[in-house]
Amino acid sequence: MTTRKDCLTRDSQDALAPLRAQFDLPPELIYLDGNSLGARPRAALARAQDVIAREWGQDLIRSWNTAGWFDLPKRLGDRLAPLIGAGAGEVVVTDSTSVNLFKALAAALHMQAADPARGERRVLVTERSNFPTDIYMAQGLSGWLQRGYRVRLVDSPAELEAAIDADSAVVMLTHVNYRTGYQHDMAALSAHAHAQGALIVWDLAHSAGAVPLDLHRDGADLAVGCTYKYLNGGPGAPAFIWVPRRHQAAFRQPLSGWWGHAAPFAMAPDFAPADGIGRALCGTQPIASLAMVECGLDIFAQTDMAAIRAKSLALTDLFIELVEARCGAHPLELVTPRQHARRGSQVSFTHPHGYAVMQALIARGVVGDYREPAIMRFGFTPLYTRYADVWDAVDILRDILDGQAYDIDAARDAVT
Ligand SMILES: *Cc1c(COP(=O)(O)O)cnc(C)c1O
Repeated sequence: MTTRKDCLTRDSQDALAPLRAQFDLPPELIYLDGNSLGARPRAALARAQDVIAREWGQDLIRSWNTAGWFDLPKRLGDRLAPLIGAGAGEVVVTDSTSVNLFKALAAALHMQAADPARGERRVLVTERSNFPTDIYMAQGLSGWLQRGYRVRLVDSPAELEAAIDADSAVVMLTHVNYRTGYQHDMAALSAHAHAQGALIVWDLAHSAGAVPLDLHRDGADLAVGCTYKYLNGGPGAPAFIWVPRRHQAAFRQPLSGWWGHAAPFAMAPDFAPADGIGRALCGTQPIASLAMVECGLDIFAQTDMAAIRAKSLALTDLFIELVEARCGAHPLELVTPRQHARRGSQVSFTHPHGYAVMQALIARGVVGDYREPAIMRFGFTPLYTRYADVWDAVDILRDILDGQAYDIDAARDAVT
């Protein structure tokens, strides 16, 4: 079995190890929740200071031009693009994941309705286990349109292909499941959706910055994703939306605000969409928050997704190995796939007292999180997680389980 000394050796040989110093993490904390809120890049503090004191404080409204505020959604989109296999001019960082999903779904339904051969399709396919906001946005949009659209919820990945049929207008899937860490086969499902005449929208919330992505190669139609998880953009940082060039002319979304206009400063009374990715924008962006996203992207620019993926798999393999070897006497069940190709960058175990055990872990400085039902979720972010952290986290977990040192009557917090 792997020892703590082996873990320290692996850390000393890890090419990504120096990047940890670019994050401000409390020294005693083992942070395994970067899949929910990424750690703070050290540079974000000075960047925030500069945005607020100089760009806002001194330069005031001139900063829309002199500090590049107006172009920020596109500039950041171009910097994010290589992480997801997108081209320049295909991504904007803007709005929330929920809002971008609304735009993407509405645009995809519009593209289908505009095609006489496909316009009769009325089903939006997604998974029952999807993150709730994704389902809610699909339900909200389809119900609101009042054109007979309905959402089909599929119960397992194995049933997906059969559920995507000649009635399907749009398939909307989250690439890596937030609860289980299951990773879909994007290429196969995109090809199947297309063979059935459907378009496919991918949510990359748990994929961007966590697993290598190649949206063009894998046949995605549209995609959205989050920047405050693995991309370390800061709490509530704006999300992103990808519209490939081949779909940009047909992409029409109903949140037609002035930032998406072809000539926003012409102040024309009629909306005309911008050429290109600009039409995915809506209104004025939260610049201070948006600026923080760049600090996270700066760190990704110093490595590549292949190196991140290799370490991510090594960390998650190690965690599974150690939990099974050292906590095997306890009723823990792995819900994350062992197969690398089907695994994201997290590991989830169920335990009958999962919530209480997670609270005990957090109290001892191992921060993961809990998701119903009974799932303890551990996120592994290769930019700042060490092999020794994995060993220490399992050591503390074993101690808690062996000593039954958790309170099964603990009151539940709203968020964690
Ligand atoms: C985190 C996450 C979101 C978050 O959406 P917000 O609009 O930022 O609240 C959406 N979808 C999935 C799949 C997520 O994992």
